[in-house]
Amino acid sequence: MNKEQRESGAAFSAKNAGAEAKESVVTPPQQSSETQLYRRPVGATPRRRAIPEGLWTKCRRCGELIFDKELEANLKICTHCEYLFPLGAKDRIRSIVEAGTFVEMDEEMTSVDVLEFPDYPNKLKKNQEKTGMKDAVITGVGDLLHHKIAIAVMDFSFNGGSMGSVVGEKLTRLIERGTKERLPVIIFASSGGARMYEGMFSLMQMAKTCGALAYHGKERLAFISVLTDPTMAGVMASFASVGDLILAEPSARIGFAGPRVIRDTTQSDLPEGFQTAEFLEQRGLIDAIVPRKEMKDRLAYYLDFVGSQNKATA
Ligand SMILES: [Zn+2]
Repeated sequence: MNKEQRESGAAFSAKNAGAEAKESVVTPPQQSSETQLYRRPVGATPRRRAIPEGLWTKCRRCGELIFDKELEANLKICTHCEYLFPLGAKDRIRSIVEAGTFVEMDEEMTSVDVLEFPDYPNKLKKNQEKTGMKDAVITGVGDLLHHKIAIAVMDFSFNGGSMGSVVGEKLTRLIERGTKERLPVIIFASSGGARMYEGMFSLMQMAKTCGALAYHGKERLAFISVLTDPTMAGVMASFASVGDLILAEPSARIGFAGPRVIRDTTQSDLPEGFQTAEFLEQRGLIDAIVPRKEMKDRLAYYLDFVGSQNKATA
């Protein structure tokens, strides 16, 4: 992806940064790879036919090749096995919020290297260049069918979706705006946890976001938490797990510590499917598993129930 493309990406018509799809000038795959195989001159270095990057994506689960454009049109769902590729924040918002209604908040807010953590500013810059985002979450208000909502979407491709001061502050401001304007809040989580480069300041965000949600709840306003793959650690241990409704995408990995750490600590085998959305739904932590394509309609359906008080103006 060249610079211009990335900049146009920032204008919200972007290809998602999550999967690092690259629009490049590659030649389309040959009609018959067999022909090529036989024509290779004797003694030439055997060349594995490389998959042209940016045109096809190989499914991580079924191994099938999917045409990138097809994958994007299908909300990053494998057309063969329904595997869910990561969906970037912008694409996610586009899949939920009505076109032309989204108003972003605090899009320029950036982290400060308070602890002078080695290489942190550099890391931030690289992530910003890679994703076209200033930090790991996008927040704003918009319409979801006939509901006006306050929505936040985390993006795992920005430093593992880690929650530092900016993520915490943006979420808190969004929640507070939701409370003030009596809007339901919907947060799509996708995170490896707190951002270690900001130490204690990251951990503070857990309490801060939950505090704001507590006030929101006191006003009898709804908060729907949607867990996407993966939602772990400090994010799962704070706002993501206190939704009035907790939804998850199929097969999402959800937990606090990773399975290896738990296995080593408890010295016991973990049950099958441990830390998946399905496992946690069976045990009551998650209210419903919602396929990506149904998410928008289901959210509208739930909002009808919890009674969002502010109708979309359109
Ligand atoms: Zn697949």
